[in-house]
Amino acid sequence: MPIPTGRFAPTPSGRLHLGNILCAMLAYLSVRHEGGRFLLRIEDVDIPRCPRRLAQQCIDDLQWLGFTWDEAPLYQSERTEVYRQYLDQLTGRGHVYPCFCTRAQLMSLAAPNLGDTQVVYQRTCASLTPEEAAEKAKTRAPAMRLRVPEEVISFEDGLFGVQQEHLARDCGDFILRRSDGLYGYQLAVVVDDALSGVTEVVRGRDILSATPRQLYLQRLLGFVQPQYVHIPLLMDAQGRRLAKRDQDLDLSALAKRFSPPEILGRLACSAGLMEEVRPMTLEALIPLFDWEKVKREDLHLSGIDRE
Ligand SMILES: [Zn+2]
Repeated sequence: MPIPTGRFAPTPSGRLHLGNILCAMLAYLSVRHEGGRFLLRIEDVDIPRCPRRLAQQCIDDLQWLGFTWDEAPLYQSERTEVYRQYLDQLTGRGHVYPCFCTRAQLMSLAAPNLGDTQVVYQRTCASLTPEEAAEKAKTRAPAMRLRVPEEVISFEDGLFGVQQEHLARDCGDFILRRSDGLYGYQLAVVVDDALSGVTEVVRGRDILSATPRQLYLQRLLGFVQPQYVHIPLLMDAQGRRLAKRDQDLDLSALAKRFSPPEILGRLACSAGLMEEVRPMTLEALIPLFDWEKVKREDLHLSGIDRE
């Protein structure tokens, strides 16, 4: 049996907010409760959006809260050579093709009933001959897309049970490397989780729909599939989902009002690990942890209001 290994993988495009901290806390408690390893990965693969000072702020914030990790933090911005090797492998095996479509072209082809974020690619470039692709590449750098199968991919989520998606119909061929040369989130996450020996992925329910794509990539690359636990989203007192724009509930504001045990105790209570709010350190929460206690429905903040 591999050592239980969990990770927290923030995107440092802003200060951590309570939703991020809840996710880090549950990921941490789950593996520490099993005596396992915990890793930190900075998901700054979108390099221009993630300046290094924000990554350092993330690390400082996590340390202030009491988190420890067992290896030096991994920075995705430093791993493009690794991602390139796996992209080359998939390209060499015929799973990837260049896409020259502009954003405007993609939007004009989108079915009108789908939102901006759910454009299923219509495979416009999938049948270009190598000569046609080479001609187009003279004037425009292509994105690289993974050809997905006509197949339902399913998995059992630790909290939400069996999940499934028909990749070709519901998702479409997705991008592994953007036309600006930056690597796609799905490829980076799958490669990093596998090479780090991650056995358990704990993350927000908002990312659940990306998981079938990652499972398919894992299968193609021969990686072992980790256990997935997607956690409910954290809502404020008005029932709105917390987001990066909520600066009154990010750590810069919270740290002025609460100590780390006060923040962690409130989050543990919101998640269902404790009956009533009281200050708790991360270490003190480890023996209390049990996925059976964690609520499945959206979570409401206990004892923290907006200012
Ligand atoms: Zn295209």
